[in-house]
Formats: sequence, structure tokens, C-alpha cells
Amino acid sequence: MGTGKSEIRKLPFPLPVFISHFLHLTVSFPPLKITFLGSGTSSGVPMIGCDCAVCTSPDKKDKRFRSSILVQSPATSLLVDAGPDFRCQMLKHKVKHLDAVILTHSHKDHIAGMDDIKAFTYFTKKPMDVYADSFTEAAIRREYYYAFADNKYPGTPEFAMKAITTEPFLAGDIPVIPVLVWHLKMPVLGFRFGKFTYITDANFIDEAEKDKIKGSEIIVLNALRKEKHVSHFSLTEAIDLVRELEIPAAYLTHISHQLGRHQDVETELPPGIHLAYDGLFLTFN
Ligand SMILES: [Zn+2]
Ligand SMILES: [Zn+2]
Repeated sequence: MGTGKSEIRKLPFPLPVFISHFLHLTVSFPPLKITFLGSGTSSGVPMIGCDCAVCTSPDKKDKRFRSSILVQSPATSLLVDAGPDFRCQMLKHKVKHLDAVILTHSHKDHIAGMDDIKAFTYFTKKPMDVYADSFTEAAIRREYYYAFADNKYPGTPEFAMKAITTEPFLAGDIPVIPVLVWHLKMPVLGFRFGKFTYITDANFIDEAEKDKIKGSEIIVLNALRKEKHVSHFSLTEAIDLVRELEIPAAYLTHISHQLGRHQDVETELPPGIHLAYDGLFLTFN
């Protein structure tokens, strides 16, 4: 149980029809609630040992767990990424059930909480569905080798790995379109859920993949800080991309303490663009 690959669910239409229906939003789509469980970069905010104005800010919006979102329809709860703060995020939001985890990439700030999936599998007595591309799956099998052992130690998490590519798939009743983005030289998956697109670790997106994002009503993009960075969009780069894609509303995530205090940065942003913060939620009908 939980050690093999299982087939991912078949789409309701042939793939090209599905994509074209999907991009024009004619596919019936369940109402969604998106909750930001974390909006911080890999070190979190505050960062250990730092006395800067952001790390010592009393504003709750300057407390940022590592980036993750919960995507929920009335029937399905999906988690995008399980970083080092995963356990605290589940407790804070009183999440008692997850249908699946979808992973963007294998960096530790996105997978370090996967051991705590054991709480969910303890109650359900079945492996957690984990959607990941081949690079990320290899990392999960390497870093959580004990979850794939033939004779598991009692109490280990169980994962049912579901291989994904850049092709759309169904997770529960939620259609998902993966969007390939680049994190320096590392391929990372962003995900489009109907009118909402979530991209957490990128500094470049190929033109063909941008077409998958266009038409979204809200996009989430990573914006690490104001200064340029080798593998993350800067604040200006993220704003420029929102404008280029002509998406009316955007929330910025994966934020470093170097970006500045939430309240200060908010006043500098153009209309329609905001910083995400932990606990922010959005609903789509
Ligand atoms: Zn700091
Ligand atoms: Zn990250």
C-alpha cells in the first residue's frame, strides 16, 4: 500500500477539447475557496536571529509561514506544497481532512512537512494521494525513503504517488492545469484552478506556458524582494508580468523579510496588486 504509482484520473474529454473548454471556462467548475496557509520565503518571516524592522514588526501580516495554499471545493480539499510549517498550518486552520497534496517542486521549503502527512493517513487508514512531476517524485522517494519501504516502521506516512506532467488532470472534482515555470534552471509547476493561477517559485516563464495563464481573474506570483534575485521574481518583475498577462488582480507571495513591512509595501503597489498574507482567503463561484 502506498508504495506504487497509481493511475491519475481520466479527464472528462479528450485532452485538446479539455484544454480549450477549460481555457474558455466553459467546463463546469466547482466553487472554490483558496486559503493562504503561508506566504513567506524559505526562511520564513521573521527569520531566525534577525532584528530587522520586518522581523520585529508587531503586525500579524508580517508573520509569514513558508508558502502553501489550500484549494477547496465543497467536495475536495487539496493542499499545494507541504513545507516545514505544514503541521502548524494544519493546526492553525483546523484542517481535518485532505484529499491530496500537489507539489510544485522539491525544494525543502515546499516538501519538508511531508512526514506530518502521517496524521492524516493515521485517521484515514489509506495513503495520501501526492501529485508530483518526475523530478519531485524522485526527491520524495529519496528524502522519505522510509515511507516507501517494504516493511515500514509503524507510524510512517503513506504516499500514493500520482505522476503528473504539464497536462491537465482532475484531483477529486477540481480540474487542474499545470503550468511549467523556471526557478533558475529548475523546472517548477505552477497550477491553474479555473479563474485562479498559483505560481510560487519562478523567475522565468516560457511564452507557450503564459498562454495557459492568460484569462485568469487572479494570479499569485512569487515576489521575493525589491532587488533582483537569481531564481525568484523581484517585486518589479512580478508587477510587470501581471501587467503583461493582463490579469486584473494579483497577490504576491513567497515574500522575504527583505521586501519590507506588509503595510509599507502595500501602499507602493499599483491598483489590483496586493501582497498575500497568511490567513488570506479568496472565493470563486
Ligand atoms: Zn529580518
Ligand atoms: Zn520556495
